[in-house]
Formats: sequence, C-alpha cells, structure tokens
Amino acid sequence: MSGPVLEVRGLEKHYGTVHALRGIDLSIDEGAIYGFLGPNGAGKTTTIRIIAGLIQATAGSVALGGIDLREDRIRAATGLRTLVEVPSFYPAMSGRTNLKLFARLAKADPKDVDRLLDAVGLTHAADRAVGGYSLGMRQRLGIAQALVGKPRLVVLDEPMNGLDPAAMHEMRRLIREERDQRGVTFFLSSHLLHDVELLCDEVGIIHEGRMVAEGRLKTLLSQAISGFRITTVNNEAAATALRADRMDLKPRLDPDGALLIDGDETTLPYLHRTLVDAGTPAIEIIPLRESLERYFLDKTEGVMG
Ligand code: ATP
Repeated sequence: MSGPVLEVRGLEKHYGTVHALRGIDLSIDEGAIYGFLGPNGAGKTTTIRIIAGLIQATAGSVALGGIDLREDRIRAATGLRTLVEVPSFYPAMSGRTNLKLFARLAKADPKDVDRLLDAVGLTHAADRAVGGYSLGMRQRLGIAQALVGKPRLVVLDEPMNGLDPAAMHEMRRLIREERDQRGVTFFLSSHLLHDVELLCDEVGIIHEGRMVAEGRLKTLLSQAISGFRITTVNNEAAATALRADRMDLKPRLDPDGALLIDGDETTLPYLHRTLVDAGTPAIEIIPLRESLERYFLDKTEGVMG
C-alpha cells in the first residue's frame, strides 16, 4: 500500500458552543508508532472518536489507506481497530471465549488468541469470566482484542490507563513487537510523556484543538536545543568574554569546570567567533537537548500565552 495509513485533514468539531477541534491535520505512515499528545481537554479523544466512527466531524476529512471514511466507511475501516475508553466484553464469558468469538467475527486465526493472551499477561485468568476482571485486566484484554488477526492500524486512546508499571513495560514491548514483526501501525494518545518518549517514533502535539507540533520525535527534539556544554583551552576566560558581550546566554561553569551557555543552533556562529576572538577557541561543543516534557510544555504554554 502506498501513501499514509491514516490522513486527517482540516478536522473541526463543535459540541454546541464548545469548539473542540479547530482544523487538525495529521498523517501516519505504515509501520509508525505515532504518539498523540496533549493536555486535558486538548481534543485527543474527540479526534480518536471521529476516526473510530463513533461521532461525526463538523468539517474536515479522515482517510484510511487513501479511502475517505465518509465515502466508503466499510472499505476505509478494513483493518482498523480502535480501543476508546474501557472496552466492553460479554461479562459472563471468559476472556478466552470473548477473544475467540471476536477472532471468528474478524475471520482471524483462533490460534492467535492464546498467543495474545500470553503477550498481555492474561493466560492465568483466561478462563475466568470477564465480569470479575479488574480495570487493568480489561484494558489488557482490550489491547489483545485490538491485535487479533493482522490489523493494519490500531488506534488506542490512553492505552496505559489503569496499568501498573510492569504492565506498561510489557505493553510497550508488545506494541513494538507487533510493529516490528507484523508491520502493524499504531496511533495512540497519551498524557505520559515519558512513555511516548520510550515508545513512539513520531509525535503530534495537540493543544486547544490545534496541532502545535508534529514530526519524528528525534527531529523535534533535535530542533529543541536549549544550550551547549563547551570545553575550551581556558573555560573561565571564555566565560568572562561571553559574559562581557552576551549576558543573555547566561555563561556559567558547571561543577566539572565546563562552560555552559543557553542558546540554540542560531547561537553557534556567534559562539565560535567570540571564542576565537577571545583567544579561547572551542575544543568541544556538545548541544544540550530538551526533554520531550520541556518541549511539550513549551509548545502548549506557548499557545496559551
Ligand atoms: P483528556 O486528556 O482530558 O481526556 P482530550 O484531549 O481527550 O482530554 P477531549 O475529550 O477530546 O479532550 O475534549 C476536547 C474538548 O471538547 C473539551 O473542552 C471537552 O470539554 C469538550 N467535549 C468533549 N466531549 C464533549 C461532549 N460530549 N459534549 C460537550 N463537550 C465535549
């Protein structure tokens, strides 16, 4: 298949007087693990509910594998699995029976069910009625269900909700494995920045119904240089020279005696020139990058301010 697995263009949503989405654009390529980030009320669930076909957008389009959702819902949604909020199951039936029924409906290999129950750590409870499962167990079963067969795109709304740290770790492993071994593409929303940083290779940040940043995580973070750690022939003299000229770079020495300054890639030419002019040329310059958390806060507060 060529082109993006999921393409969202100009998505708008009004709930009465609430303007929840204000023109969302996003695009996900096959094999990506895409993290959809945003503070509370930003519009993540609304976007996912529209993609899942649970609610209608006020304007804009959603295309899955190049097929517009409104034009041909059935064909567009082939191979799409969504898990939004707490998944529902037949409470009197066991986890295994629920998944086997689902596999039959999805025309998937029922053997897949045991592999997935094991992968989400539910083998021990697989024959118990789902009505007695905890929230975290239902969440795991929901994720297993979303992976039955060979879905093309799995959309998960806050998949780590209700999971303990060990289960989160397992879930990350499972998602990576499904992508690497079976080519499944993932679109998942999360508040958990650390988790997204560990798991996703692409991110979109949404704030007040607008995308404020989108791209490969590595690229976004490499744009997010916040300063430099510099070693020169004489770091103290270099700090004095910079301080005399540009206090805004906040030249300072760290406990190891290295010179630290604030700044981004646009600071580099000035930095080189000034250090050479001061007779303290740089021997090493290491960029200091922002964490995803810092980047996220900058992006979301920037729009508010
Ligand atoms: P959270 O991280 O808190 O789940 P979110 O990013 O998923 O937030 P949404 O649930 O999509 O955000 O909400 C976006 C905006 O739309 C919010 O202002 C919310 O109050 C509003 N909203 C969502 N659902 C409805 C609804 N059914 N009726 C009215 N307003 C709604």
